[in-house]
Amino acid sequence: MTTLFAKIVRGEIPADIVYQDDSVTAFRDINPVAPTHILIVPNKVIPTVNDLTAADEQVAGHMLVVAAKIAAEEGIAEDGYRLIINCNEYGGQVVFHLHMHLVGGRPLGQMVLRPR
Ligand code: 5GP
Repeated sequence: MTTLFAKIVRGEIPADIVYQDDSVTAFRDINPVAPTHILIVPNKVIPTVNDLTAADEQVAGHMLVVAAKIAAEEGIAEDGYRLIINCNEYGGQVVFHLHMHLVGGRPLGQMVLRPR
């Protein structure tokens, strides 16, 4: 199985990659919602959070550690930021390759809007 993000991981599609190692890749979102908006993805295709297994615990945890490292490098760690993983339709997931959004650089407001 391949995905848009797998092609970015392999360098087949251009992206502004800010970090890469054997298990994860991080690159700037093409349509940023804040001054810092970076996507952190496992190099192997895991479609959604629902597809994680015990064998993925290391890579899932590594995504968090890499997010913290990038936040520090971006200079947004002190002020704070948000990590978001959308899952399936209600979560608003569009790309079915697990990814964590690292969003910051401005006050982000309410986490989830309440229905009117
Ligand atoms: P989702 O809604 O699935 O959680 O988020 C998908 C994210 O991928 C969106 O924020 C969108 O802007 C980003 N995105 C979609 N296509 C591309 C692309 O080709 N390159 C990059 N860098 N980001 C993309």
